[in-house]
Amino acid sequence: MAHAVTPSTAPNSGPTPVAYEQALARYEPVLGLETHIELGTASKMFCSCPTAFGARPNTQVCPVCLALPGSLPVVNRKAVESAIRLGLALDCSIAPWGRFARKNYFYPDMPKNYQISQYDEPICVDGHLDVTVDTPEGPRVFRVDIERVHMEEDTGKTSHVGGATGRIHGADYSIVDYNRAGIPLLEIVTKPITGTGELAPLVARAYAAELRDLARSLGISDVRMEEGSMRVDVNVSVNEHGADEWGTRSETKNVNSLRSVERAVRSEIERQAGVLDAGHRVVQETRHFQENTGRSISGRSKEEAQDYRYFPDPDLVPVAPRGSGSRSCAPRCPNCPRPSAPACGPSGTSPTPNCATSSTPTPSTWSRRPSPRARRPPRRASCG
Ligand SMILES: [Zn+2]
Repeated sequence: MAHAVTPSTAPNSGPTPVAYEQALARYEPVLGLETHIELGTASKMFCSCPTAFGARPNTQVCPVCLALPGSLPVVNRKAVESAIRLGLALDCSIAPWGRFARKNYFYPDMPKNYQISQYDEPICVDGHLDVTVDTPEGPRVFRVDIERVHMEEDTGKTSHVGGATGRIHGADYSIVDYNRAGIPLLEIVTKPITGTGELAPLVARAYAAELRDLARSLGISDVRMEEGSMRVDVNVSVNEHGADEWGTRSETKNVNSLRSVERAVRSEIERQAGVLDAGHRVVQETRHFQENTGRSISGRSKEEAQDYRYFPDPDLVPVAPRGSGSRSCAPRCPNCPRPSAPACGPSGTSPTPNCATSSTPTPSTWSRRPSPRARRPPRRASCG
């Protein structure tokens, strides 16, 4: 996601990266993956504009997604259902009640000057996804813990024209297409992934592949990474073996292929090892992965959550999924896609009708005021 540009003081020609094996001999990597998935809904997150990819620029816009004065957003029910479906498949708890929040920042492709997102009340929390990595000793399974899945809207798309790199530096002018502004997104955030050692790049790739396949088989997105409907932000830090604290992390933004996810992790471990070996400190920043070099370049210094001045969006009623505290069979139906379930049907299998209509939480309750009962902490939805 694009944010306010703050010039970074970090040089792009830093210390020489350390060879991967040498880096792993001295340092332990810690990963964190934030994945944006564009949902395949017919209309946008908060208005009825179509979402078709490839339309003529600025033809799929309206007063709501252009944030014209007086326009009011309305939540897309299908998008909420998609979030719940993914959350259940990741074995998350589904929040019984939650609000959208405004994430405040300025960027030309974000016409509101804020993004509608979720902050402290995400719709899904505390799940996991098991991924398998092939090693010389045989397949090895890693459990990747999911911190949260939250709903938000995509930004528009800015193109920088006239420069050699397509980036703003050196461009003659920039043009903005708002067709993408307001398309529903899910952001899936992992907890820190530790203990992967030299397999870190493969674990990151396997996670992205598993999540992509899961979203596709649930039918919630086409997850075409080459078209940007799934993008991965790769957080990496390294610390010396046995250290009490993790190192400073960098965040490589919008990596858009499985191969690049793997390469981005690997190159960042090598780069950070080189920085530390040279006696410098790793700078907390965003970085941009370069396909042609296999390396990343410095972006901007990384904002903290408080920089965005989140507050509840007063234009939107809270979402209160009905049945989130009830027993839901959805994740365990034999034909439902679900991580680490051999009984699951093949990729592309849809949930059974029984599953979809029984006690799966649905966003059918739109509440203006939470009842005391609804404000209880989320409970795990399972067949347990
Ligand atoms: Zn619109």
